[in-house]
Amino acid sequence: DLVANQIAAGEVVERPASVVKELLENSLDAGATRIRIEVEAGGRKLIRIADNGHGMVKDDALLAFERHATSKLRTSDDLLSIATLGFRGEALPSIASVSRLTLETRSSEDDSGTVVEIAGGNILRVEDAGLPTGTTITIRDLFFNTPARRKFLKSEQTELSHIAALVTHYALAHPTKHFELHSATQALLIAPAVPNAADRLFQIFGKDTSNFMLPTAAELDFTRAGLPEPPPWKREIDYTPPDPGYLRITGFVSKPELQKLNRNAIYVFVNQRLVRDKLILHALTEAYRNIIPPTSFPVVLLFLEMPPQEVDVNVHPAKTEVRFRQSAFVHDFVRDTVRTVLMQARP
Ligand code: ADP
Ligand code: MG
Repeated sequence: DLVANQIAAGEVVERPASVVKELLENSLDAGATRIRIEVEAGGRKLIRIADNGHGMVKDDALLAFERHATSKLRTSDDLLSIATLGFRGEALPSIASVSRLTLETRSSEDDSGTVVEIAGGNILRVEDAGLPTGTTITIRDLFFNTPARRKFLKSEQTELSHIAALVTHYALAHPTKHFELHSATQALLIAPAVPNAADRLFQIFGKDTSNFMLPTAAELDFTRAGLPEPPPWKREIDYTPPDPGYLRITGFVSKPELQKLNRNAIYVFVNQRLVRDKLILHALTEAYRNIIPPTSFPVVLLFLEMPPQEVDVNVHPAKTEVRFRQSAFVHDFVRDTVRTVLMQARP
């Protein structure tokens, strides 16, 4: 119902950037290779995301707005091995309960597409329409019916910069996909598909010497096989060690000469999911201890890959927090790997 959806919206939809995050993840889950995002007034007035993913058949287009009607979880066991980015089935109903939303979608299986229009959680219109394969979702007037939430929004410029940072993160994590971000007045990001992360890094940051340039970054690619046996207290809890266990780290860390005064240049992804994780930030701080001054931060792009059951993404619906099953192992591997690479990179 509407109240439950608005309460969930309080968790999932903090600001325009959280809407963009949910919609982006849905597009990626739908196998999109091209994603175009358009925003007006920092996303308050308009957020539109168009993808060329697999789209939805009409029944699914309506089901998408039912709470917990995710198409991505079949059994409760799936909760332990989530490979898609979304799984809660909460985002679309939540967003639709606090905005005016139009969904236009066509599945490749269907001859025609579906348009669904919803305002404040009420379905206003469902129609067939000739549409290309894929999905376009338009969100207008975010929080129009929840003035208390609207008041918490920051300036248009601030909200826009959050959106731009977020889209940049996803573009970095998915170099082989085409991303575009436009505001009413300018193209903020146009990143055509490239073969790999290094090319993407150069595509996005290469011209900006205050950010990281490839020649000043050391490249990482380490795999540690065989995650250790869990400690005895963990064995009592329902826990099966992964077989074979692995933890892989790839990415780039800046050499000591390149530093920043804030953490905004630290990008960490776990199984391609953007995370803000205190444990990893701590490991990085340790790795750079006595290498750069304690008042500055490195520039880091880190991709961690591990078996899905090794990481709990279910901690918070906004999903930038994660919990590692073997947090000490992950922490120490990140610290040791980055430290080793930095020592080698020292003149
Ligand atoms: P979740 O992603 O957790 O499953 P959402 O509320 O984000 O839940 O989306 C609900 C459902 O709508 C998804 O499970 C999916 O089936 C469908 N859906 C949403 N966005 C798209 C999209 N861009 N392309 C195809 N299907 C989509
Ligand atoms: Mg989703």
